[in-house]
Amino acid sequence: MVDILVASGNAKKLRELETVLQESSISDVVLHSLKDVAAYPEPAETGLTFEENALIKARAGAQATGMACIADDSGLAVAALNGMPGVLSARWSGTHGDDQANNDLLLAQMTDIALRDAAFVSCCALVVPGGEEHTAEGRWEGTLLTQPRGENGFGYDPLFEPVDAPGRSSAELTPDEKNARSHRGQALRELAQWIAVLAHQAG
Ligand code: IMP
Repeated sequence: MVDILVASGNAKKLRELETVLQESSISDVVLHSLKDVAAYPEPAETGLTFEENALIKARAGAQATGMACIADDSGLAVAALNGMPGVLSARWSGTHGDDQANNDLLLAQMTDIALRDAAFVSCCALVVPGGEEHTAEGRWEGTLLTQPRGENGFGYDPLFEPVDAPGRSSAELTPDEKNARSHRGQALRELAQWIAVLAHQAG
């Protein structure tokens, strides 16, 4: 049995990983959320790439708890903005986590811009105390809409039309439909192979 901390305050991410582990028939893993462990100082996300930030968060969790730790960093990369908001996605408008303000600013910046290619990107990192580190990246291609659509999801979902769900925004997909396609789902499924190795080693 191996204990793994999922270093995220978002309960949905823990459930998403649980689903991936079930689908991959990986048992002998007990997932813990940040609420299950003693609070520790969350590190600043100073990386310039999703991978750097995911590793910063996973290393901090592993060091603070002595458990293997999984963390992810994600965002929206817009071609016409040279890949931005990118690692600044959560704080694009200046206030961390203000989805409405982030979406409004992005739409205003993209007014009259015809090139609307965009992708959600996620990097997931697994850090084992003692040094073993693995990362996996997922990319979900799509285009930016000109106005918000849909009520599901979070963040930029109402503005994103995935290539594999034409005619709908990602905020109009069910959670299962989104998880099956999304950047994070892809990255978690790739990382699952390393979780399986850990579980196997622990017996
Ligand atoms: P974080 O990796 O949890 O810090 O998320 C970064 C930011 O990227 C979020 O606040 C959202 O603005 C955006 N983002 C990441 N993944 C998604 C998604 O699946 N849908 C919508 N927005 C997302």
